[in-house]
Amino acid sequence: MTTQAASVIVPTLQERHSGTPARLGEIAAAAKSRVLENRTLPTAQPRKRSVRLPPGVSLEKFEEAVKELKGALGAENVEVNDQPLVDGWYMEHPNTHDAFHITDQEELVSSATIYPGSTEEVQSTVRWANKFGIPVYPISIGRNLGYGGAAPRVPGAAVIDLGRRMHEIVNIDAENASCVVEPGVTYYKLYEEIQNRKLPLWVDTPDLGGGSVLGNAIDRGVGYTPYGDHFANHCGMEVVLPNGEVLRTGMGAMPGPNGADNPTWQSFQHAFGPSIDGIFSQSNFGIVTKMGFQLMPATEHQSYCFTFPKDEDFEQIVDLIRPLAQSRVLGNVPQLRQVIQELGVAGHRRADLHDGPGPLTQEEISAAASKLPLGDCTWIFYGCQYGPPESIKAQLDVIKAAFFQIPGAKFFLPSDLPPDHYLSDRALVCSGVPVLRDLDWLNWEPNGAHLFFSPIAPTRGKDARKVHEIVAAAHKRYGFNLFPTLCVAGREIHYITNIIYDRADPEAKVRAIKLMREMITECAALGFGEYRTHLLFADQVASTYNWNNSALMTFNETLKDALDPNGILAPGRNGIWPKQFRGKGWELGADAIDLTSIGPRK
Ligand code: FAD
Repeated sequence: MTTQAASVIVPTLQERHSGTPARLGEIAAAAKSRVLENRTLPTAQPRKRSVRLPPGVSLEKFEEAVKELKGALGAENVEVNDQPLVDGWYMEHPNTHDAFHITDQEELVSSATIYPGSTEEVQSTVRWANKFGIPVYPISIGRNLGYGGAAPRVPGAAVIDLGRRMHEIVNIDAENASCVVEPGVTYYKLYEEIQNRKLPLWVDTPDLGGGSVLGNAIDRGVGYTPYGDHFANHCGMEVVLPNGEVLRTGMGAMPGPNGADNPTWQSFQHAFGPSIDGIFSQSNFGIVTKMGFQLMPATEHQSYCFTFPKDEDFEQIVDLIRPLAQSRVLGNVPQLRQVIQELGVAGHRRADLHDGPGPLTQEEISAAASKLPLGDCTWIFYGCQYGPPESIKAQLDVIKAAFFQIPGAKFFLPSDLPPDHYLSDRALVCSGVPVLRDLDWLNWEPNGAHLFFSPIAPTRGKDARKVHEIVAAAHKRYGFNLFPTLCVAGREIHYITNIIYDRADPEAKVRAIKLMREMITECAALGFGEYRTHLLFADQVASTYNWNNSALMTFNETLKDALDPNGILAPGRNGIWPKQFRGKGWELGADAIDLTSIGPRK
């Protein structure tokens, strides 16, 4: 089965584990058409070089290793990466490289892709990697776009694409409101299955639903229902260690009766002894092959938004959110965006609104925004309240009384706006329905790609303003419009900005790299650090967490060397290098602007 709209074909969830659910078929086809219209690059370009070998591994040894692994897993489950690279688009993303390349497309690439079909095959793959000294890099789905996509940090590492053959929903427990999934289960897939079974449960989803439930949580991603902190809502893991051993965390460490899984595995996260789950997130200490999650029971809900006229309102908005969020009047982690994103998700492109290079001016933004349903404004707050209607009404009265203190603030329900307005998509996301809308802002530039810059600021107006000022000034310096998407909780803000650039423009890429590096440095100087970053900025971010002579990194390196003595698992992920690589020029610091060659530097 294939979905077709305007002769554009999109693989479905029935055809491919990472495909599009039928309900989104036409939306996906239309989104793909817009991406294709906006593309000037050819679909694929011939390779300039042959296969990128793992560091220190000869072609002969590589070929011997590939032959051996094909023998163990089946020839069809090991592919050498020697074909032209195809960036594709969100729903047909590559597993060979970073689709949103910030350096040359051929630089951050794998040597091979491996498709294990079980935990045992993951163990065999890890043992193989140790035997041949080949670094491996696990992905679940590989849609970590903006943070490195499917690319390994070390060019020539072999990517272990877990999702292609390990995409079973192992269990959905309706009474416990929980599930256990394998790496290849996307938000779309889990949602559709819950609907098929007619269970009153929600899946907390990010802006887009094509990611892996497990992979996103491992990278400590976020969503927008009250269960939006994905790692916090996990419950139990199965992990293959770098030496090929396998363990289960939490209550899963105790066998269930008669060889069954422990019946409390998804009920209590911490169990007995040190809580080690955290060390398998944003790290290179293990490959997670199964993971449990607690799911939110469905409830009534009401999405809404407020607009605020001026950039200077920011400090007051943040100070008003803090008590509302801390006292849990706010139902979820709301998003605070700027009106330029309204233009992006409404399908506008920079070139439609601005002549020549450079960002839109404030006048151009205001003029275009005034023609949109929300009108001209600066900040837009997207929230959602949960519970019975009378409770929602009472909550909204409190929230309105707070936000209407800001002169010019306006309030909208979805029913006040056209049905295709972005607020309707937020209403779905905030009630556990994965959608595909947020792709549209990527078309802001031709061949649109983006980097996420994701510092954490306290939910205190004067501190958050410092981050905002650094970010806004740096974007101005480097000629980018600012696309902030802030997830504001009671004590901290994920101040996420999307740096959108043209993948075909090397000069824009260099400006984006400089912009990232300077924002990381300037924020760190005031004590603000990133919660997550693109692979190529991980060393710099990790180096800012350097309290007491970098005691944290020393601890991570001690763990790394103990767990992975041959240094085969995802070297360099989150700035953690095994001893074989450490201090040999692989680290990319604040001065690494030229990323045309990622390998040991002098
Ligand atoms: P993967 O790419 O498979 O993995 C993510 C990382 O975890 C990789 O570094 C990988 O090495 C590691 N990893 C994966 N699986 C394993 C494993 N089994 N064992 C060990 N390590 C593993 N993200 C959000 O969190 N919230 C958002 O709202 C959001 N909005 C987005 C909007 C747009 C327009 C775009 C383009 C991206 C957005 N993202 C967002 C980022 C990203 O798309 C998602 O986080 C996505 O879920 C990550 O990709 P994935 O799930 O396929 O994970």
